[in-house]
Amino acid sequence: MDQFTTEKLKSIVGSQNFFDSKEDKLVYSYDGTPVYRHLPEAVLFPEDAEQISKILKLANQEKFNVVPRGAGTGLSGGSIPVDNSVVVVMTKWNRILEIDTSNLTAWVEPGVVTGKLQNQVEKIGLFYPPDPGSLTVCTIGGNVASNAGGLRGLKYGVTKNYVLGVEMILPNGELLKTGGKNMKDAAGYNLKDFIIGSEGTLGIITKVLVKLLPKPTKSITLLIFFNKLVDAGKTVSDIIAAHIVPSMMEFLDNTTINCVEDYAHIGLPRKSEAILLIEVDGRDSEVQEDAEVIRKIAVKNNASALKGATDKTESENLKTARRSAFSALARKMPTTILEDATVPRSELPVMIEKVTKAAKMFDVMIGNFGHAGDGNLHPTCLTDERDSKALDKAHKAFEYIFNEAIKLGGTITGEHGTGLSKKQFLESVAGPAGVDMMKRIKCAIDPNNILNPEKIFSISPKCEGYLPLKRQQIKDFNE
Ligand SMILES: Cc1cc2nc3c(=O)[nH]c(=O)nc-3n(C[C@H](O)[C@H](O)[C@H](O)COP(=O)(O)OP(=O)(O)OC[C@H]3O[C@@H](n4cnc5c(N)ncnc54)[C@H](O)[C@@H]3O)c2cc1C
Repeated sequence: MDQFTTEKLKSIVGSQNFFDSKEDKLVYSYDGTPVYRHLPEAVLFPEDAEQISKILKLANQEKFNVVPRGAGTGLSGGSIPVDNSVVVVMTKWNRILEIDTSNLTAWVEPGVVTGKLQNQVEKIGLFYPPDPGSLTVCTIGGNVASNAGGLRGLKYGVTKNYVLGVEMILPNGELLKTGGKNMKDAAGYNLKDFIIGSEGTLGIITKVLVKLLPKPTKSITLLIFFNKLVDAGKTVSDIIAAHIVPSMMEFLDNTTINCVEDYAHIGLPRKSEAILLIEVDGRDSEVQEDAEVIRKIAVKNNASALKGATDKTESENLKTARRSAFSALARKMPTTILEDATVPRSELPVMIEKVTKAAKMFDVMIGNFGHAGDGNLHPTCLTDERDSKALDKAHKAFEYIFNEAIKLGGTITGEHGTGLSKKQFLESVAGPAGVDMMKRIKCAIDPNNILNPEKIFSISPKCEGYLPLKRQQIKDFNE
């Protein structure tokens, strides 16, 4: 990046919001995704929409790339810088602007941390359901851009089900406002839904209008242990067949259970092949009844033990196992590749077997956990990116897992997005016509391809986004 552009950027955001020291750039060269990293030219913290607009106009003029970023917890490499790019960090945009108790909506800035929004609205008896495992750090902007899911997805859906309106700056610097407080709106193309999940490739989100619900009055959390994986799978399908829709139905396999126990020492039975964490919520009587039916189903399916909690503290304790799964697995080996294969939920038991088979076939260590209720698994490979053979095996195991998921009618990502790490699989899911349409939309809105290029798909061959197969393919920071 030349001196002119650097000075121009400084004058737009102010030198207090412009960082280009090696140390600062290093911090923003990676996100939650292992293996990928790349140094940006500079890191910017714009303070208002006009500054963002000016940055994008300058990017079109001087031909540099702009990579939007929230908290950087993404697991598909969506906010990793590309060649000749500046990172635009939105974490300073952290105000809840309005909570409208008449319409049950809230206007928020994109940098608001998801857990903070949940806590704020719960204080006044309202409820914002999307709850990614990363909710104490990730931002609403990142959630909207990646259409994040979470533990309560089974009953309440994902981020897209709660976004009513979006304001964002388009790649040409124009402000777009779409959606609003109307519960129904059939005017023209549904631009809002088109922006949700666009992974920062179509605009920088500056405001989000979310839908709120009344807070459920009661919830019961159950932690159920199984000696046989197959019994846990059967319990999941029997609960769904009994027409009970838990707010949470999470699964952990034996590898994950042992890693969590090593980490958190909470007394999990190490021999269990699976744990289900189930929560039901709603009205008092309905919740008690559902919990009772679930208990009976679990017992019928040979559950070896069952713990229950009705108050918030007890419930949080039971959830510790699930919430610490990622960190617990990550302690085992230097590199943790957490994936996001999703299948129709009836195929979940088959998919669990396929993941176990992949670990054996390719001789890799895979912990498996995830959102059993919505068929969304997080097979997590514990490996070491410095060992090219080990990384190669991990790559092959995931290729096998994704192909098997697609064969079962599934998809390559239920919630983390395509980003850099999964774009080579996109065509198998979206089809050539689908990918072509996406590319044409991107080209029409961002003709110079300056906004988060190389994510989701490549328009020009810059950085292919495959998991590097060899150590030599991993770019060092100094290169
Ligand atoms: C421990 C852990 C648990 C997780 N659990 C879940 C889970 O249960 N469910 C789930 O869905 N995900 C989960 N994730 C992944 C991640 O937290 C989510 O994808 C989250 O939505 C990312 O938010 P972020 O603010 O960190 O965004 P970032 O990682 O900073 O960015 C994600 C994408 O959004 C874009 N973006 C960010 N802000 C904006 C903006 N203002 N305008 C336009 N584009 C923007 C970026 O360019 C990038 O493409 C988990 C991650 C971790 C580390």
